[in-house]
Amino acid sequence: MTTKTTDTLQSFRERIGQIKNYEEALGVLYWDLRTGAPRKGMDSRSAAIGTLSARLFELQTAPEMGEWLSELEETGAFGQLDEINQRLVTETRKEYDRSVKIPPKLNQEYVVLTSQAESLWEEVKETGDYAAFQPYLDKIITYTNQFIDLWGAGATRYDTLLDMYEPGMTTAELDQVFGGLREKLVPLVSAVAASPHQPERSFLGQSFDKETQKKFSLFILEQLGFDFKAGRLDESVHPFATGLSTGDVRITTRYLDRDVTSALFGTIHECGHAMYEQNIMKELNGTTLSTGTSMGIHESQSRFWENVIGRSKPFWNRYYGDLQKLFPKQLQVPVDDFYRAINVVEPSLTRVEADELTYNLHIIIRYELEKLIFNEGVKAAELPALWNEKYREYLGVEPRHDGEGVLQDVHWSGGAFGYFPSYSLGNMYAAQMTDTMERELPQMWDLVERGELHPIKEWLTERIYRYGKLRSPSELIRAITGKPLDPGYLVAYLEKKYKAIYRL
Ligand SMILES: [Zn+2]
Repeated sequence: MTTKTTDTLQSFRERIGQIKNYEEALGVLYWDLRTGAPRKGMDSRSAAIGTLSARLFELQTAPEMGEWLSELEETGAFGQLDEINQRLVTETRKEYDRSVKIPPKLNQEYVVLTSQAESLWEEVKETGDYAAFQPYLDKIITYTNQFIDLWGAGATRYDTLLDMYEPGMTTAELDQVFGGLREKLVPLVSAVAASPHQPERSFLGQSFDKETQKKFSLFILEQLGFDFKAGRLDESVHPFATGLSTGDVRITTRYLDRDVTSALFGTIHECGHAMYEQNIMKELNGTTLSTGTSMGIHESQSRFWENVIGRSKPFWNRYYGDLQKLFPKQLQVPVDDFYRAINVVEPSLTRVEADELTYNLHIIIRYELEKLIFNEGVKAAELPALWNEKYREYLGVEPRHDGEGVLQDVHWSGGAFGYFPSYSLGNMYAAQMTDTMERELPQMWDLVERGELHPIKEWLTERIYRYGKLRSPSELIRAITGKPLDPGYLVAYLEKKYKAIYRL
């Protein structure tokens, strides 16, 4: 490597390290805000976050960063970089271009608009007053369209938004996978709803002592392989995971007195996110590649542990006895009834409360609407009617007011268009990876039944976790399964599981 390239690389890597430091500091501040920071400190905290964010943005978009990137991208220099530095340059270029193409004034207006819209949304989701929210949503759509023009549209305008959360994903590919999924799931959901064999689950709604629930959550985390020396469990209103570094990954859950499953599956879900971040290879430490490669792959890990493992019969054959010991009065039913109860399917209006089977239809509805907004020019005024029509068609339910319909999610008020598909992509990736895992670890379900979960975590570490952002979602899924994303695996998994539970 020439001395000039070596010097440039050193400056570039130092800057990446600083960016990572700022991100970690902001991560701790946000974590603290969401886990019980005193209310009276909010103003001071907002100011601190504002200052650090502005400085971070400067570090990311400074002209010298553009110069370093151009120098390192020259063929002579780029070819001399190792794999990690090459990927770091490519990823940083993408982020850099995205940020510098938006004029600061436009960005500032947008930040103000979305923060107003988010606080208005908090009110209108309760009252269902869509008319009050509609002008804000129209403006957010207009700004997003301006951003798409500045960034440059992909094959379709919506492709540009998808790429932010799932690099490389396209509308053409999603149309195909979601189309295939919808076609199979709609009839399966109706068959399940019509089955006379509906599981009984009222026993799950008894009172469950919160401290005891916490004890069980900690026990399960340890069983799954969560590293307590590199993480911690706290409480928050909405469960989340935040990876500050591989040595500090924090998760939260929420204990409800009359719903023992909420904390339990919330904990397992966030543990999946956390184990991904805890097991990224050390060579990526201190770089912006030391994180999950996409929202969809991240969700595949949380959903694999929560649903594929955590809601399986073998898992409860092993752990139901432990849970029963803690709640002998509430849990008198046999394990088979418990298993059926935690897998109840119920077409409902609310995405966040949806079961494993209907969840994907909630996502497909949002995907279809977002595509209409950005590719067909549909206006905010048209959304409630379209929303209700799709819920009737796919799930057989209809909202009584917009609060339980089009206003239920926070995403659009924050401008997060293109994010929703990640959740279903996670389910599809998880099912496809499980198929490979079952063949490569033929004794997989025996291991689960014995509570030996370590080999499963190791398998995921070798094929997914360790790479962080070093491989793209499509590279990962192809390397693991030998095929591109295929919705058939999720359909097969859901059909097998739910036809058995509902005796279809
Ligand atoms: Zn998640």
